[in-house]
Amino acid sequence: MKNLKLPITIDPSRSAQRKLVCDGYFEVSGMNRLLAVCDAQCEQVQVNANFGVDEQGLVVISGTASATVALICQRCTEGFELALEVSFTFSPVKDVEAEAELPSYYDAIELDENGEVNLRELVEDEFLLAIPLIPRHSLKDCQASPDSVWGELPEELEKPNPFDVLKKLK
Ligand SMILES: [Zn+2]
Repeated sequence: MKNLKLPITIDPSRSAQRKLVCDGYFEVSGMNRLLAVCDAQCEQVQVNANFGVDEQGLVVISGTASATVALICQRCTEGFELALEVSFTFSPVKDVEAEAELPSYYDAIELDENGEVNLRELVEDEFLLAIPLIPRHSLKDCQASPDSVWGELPEELEKPNPFDVLKKLK
């Protein structure tokens, strides 16, 4: 399948037997949960998904997906674009017991009553995980002055503020 509109649900076992490679897209308008948290800057979500069977006989769905979305910077409140690029490796499971037995390097995806998985939901979930909890420009692109108090609030992972050391000395 090359640059086709992808089926929303797909039978992973049958696809794995055929070693199916899907190159295609989903309409972003069908991803309501994604659209609830950001504005899409593209009409299509590009997806590459490969179906196969590993050496243990497990069905594996692996691939990548990309889309461009607009978010509001929480530091300067201006909008900005973010290219979402995700990669995934799933193995379909029938129930929680099967999920518990799955090797940890696979994510579990539940089969529906027809033995199919919802590929569009899978991709949408990955995008939702890829959107930062506190969306912000990179510092060089941000309109907010770097020493604004608001800009420093959520930066736990950045280098320690030298003024904290001074505060301790007081
Ligand atoms: Zn900003």
